[in-house]
Amino acid sequence: MVFDVAILGYGPAGASLANLLGAYGLSVIVLEKDAQIYPMPRAIHFDGEVMRVFQTMGLRPAMENISRPGMKGMHFVNADNETLLIRGGTAALGPHGCANNHYFHQPELEQVLRQGVARFENVSVRLHHLVSEVHDRGDHVELEVSELNGQQPLRVQARYVVGCDGARSLVRKVLNCSTRDLGLHQPWLVFDALLKPGAPTLPDHTVQLCDPNRPMTYCNVTGNRRRWEIMLLPGDDTGELIKPDNLWPLVQRWIEPQHADIERAVIYTFHSIIAQGWRQGRLLIAGDAAHQTPPFLGQGMCAAIRDVSNLAWKLQAVLQGRAHDQLLDSYESERAPHVAEFIELAVRLGDIIQTTDPQAARLRDAKFRGGGEPEIFHFPAPRLGPGVLSSAPAPVGQPFPQPQLSNGQWLDERVGHHFVVIATPEMMRDVQTATRQAWEHWQVQTLDANEPVLASWLAAHQASAVVLRPDRYVMGLAHSSDELDTLTRDYLPTHALPELCA
Ligand SMILES: Cc1cc2nc3c(=O)[nH]c(=O)nc-3n(C[C@H](O)[C@H](O)[C@H](O)COP(=O)(O)OP(=O)(O)OC[C@H]3O[C@@H](n4cnc5c(N)ncnc54)[C@H](O)[C@@H]3O)c2cc1C
Repeated sequence: MVFDVAILGYGPAGASLANLLGAYGLSVIVLEKDAQIYPMPRAIHFDGEVMRVFQTMGLRPAMENISRPGMKGMHFVNADNETLLIRGGTAALGPHGCANNHYFHQPELEQVLRQGVARFENVSVRLHHLVSEVHDRGDHVELEVSELNGQQPLRVQARYVVGCDGARSLVRKVLNCSTRDLGLHQPWLVFDALLKPGAPTLPDHTVQLCDPNRPMTYCNVTGNRRRWEIMLLPGDDTGELIKPDNLWPLVQRWIEPQHADIERAVIYTFHSIIAQGWRQGRLLIAGDAAHQTPPFLGQGMCAAIRDVSNLAWKLQAVLQGRAHDQLLDSYESERAPHVAEFIELAVRLGDIIQTTDPQAARLRDAKFRGGGEPEIFHFPAPRLGPGVLSSAPAPVGQPFPQPQLSNGQWLDERVGHHFVVIATPEMMRDVQTATRQAWEHWQVQTLDANEPVLASWLAAHQASAVVLRPDRYVMGLAHSSDELDTLTRDYLPTHALPELCA
């Protein structure tokens, strides 16, 4: 059998892609070398856009069960507890129709994603299967796979392969990608502790302790779980540092050993890199295989999930013959500049947090104090790079919000996973036949621009109509049916139907 897609790696990127492609009805195989979900402490935060992707997968209630919304933001404080800078908190209901920050324990989130995949008979999952070779044969890809319990090796064939195989990606090596290095590479110790009854009340917001003697991050995860990430300093003995007798003194400003049990402690080296060349022929990479960020904004996994949300509908369109495979080139051109903005900001924040020279720390503190009240910043809202969207400035290339419509339904539930045209009935009536054919070809959903929440968005952006993509990003704005024709002709990928492009 030749699968439509083989996914290497069953972390958050691979499991999310399997959910999205599973719902499209594609035949998918997931190959994962580990027998179990990776148990070590990693991601603890995702944002509202990512919750919206989980909603698209039908997993929002399950994700709400294992996460908590966080409204308090992140405070950067110095050794004297002076607040230097704040990443602002957010309202309970942000633009995506949910809170904009959510905290969770990564193994629980991966479990929910895997339960989601189990809904699809068209997705086979092979745990404990190591992919050792990847060969693009032109019309399909061949994978050499070893079953790690020692059974016969397998040969798997697929039309496309997506390497969601993490930081040491085999697929990235096969693609021979060059990498853009954004300069931050630093080992940190990460440990999770479970508070005991009677433990002191710790902050609800995340703290970046910019103490030159020992920079560290504190975070309330979920329930009684708390996270400390602690920068390693020259001379640290990593084997010794993770021993309880040495761990507790590091966090004594927060708690004492009798207040909590250590759950896990592990050393990670944080990196800031972006691979170049995410697609060649039938091979693609996503998630940590394509980019890595220091976790100061809690955005590595978020970027992985944005990648697969961008890629899933394009793979479906190509595999179901609705678009030419050139469409897949827009995946990197759109996503790479977007993820770069997050990584660049995380690196700048790393420069603030990781200062270990006392004189430089004093100068830094004085600079922040100069502004009076601490400066407040928010997550960036980058525009996608060039691809399947008009060249107009934002909000084109940014996610469209998810309002509740007047019948109480959430926008995304109303339109499903499709392109959407929001325009008045008159504008839609006046478009050309070729435009209407293209909309049919893409199963475009239409919404009346007179719907009050949509009308007020259009008024705020001085537009009469808007076209959204299946991943909820704004493809373009229009002011007339002629402009809707142009937008459809120039940007809706109709490569497979030349007669529609006339
Ligand atoms: C300390 C820390 C804190 C973090 N905090 C956050 C945060 O708060 N928010 C956030 O968004 N992100 C955070 N991240 C980043 C986040 O954990 C990663 O970005 C995310 O796990 C990447 O997902 P992925 O699926 O791309 O890769 P991975 O999770 O690494 O999964 C890759 C999978 O591929 C498998 N694999 C690899 N090679 C093969 C092969 N040859 N054959 C078969 N299987 C293979 C691996 O076993 C693995 O299961 C943090 C990371 C760290 C280390």
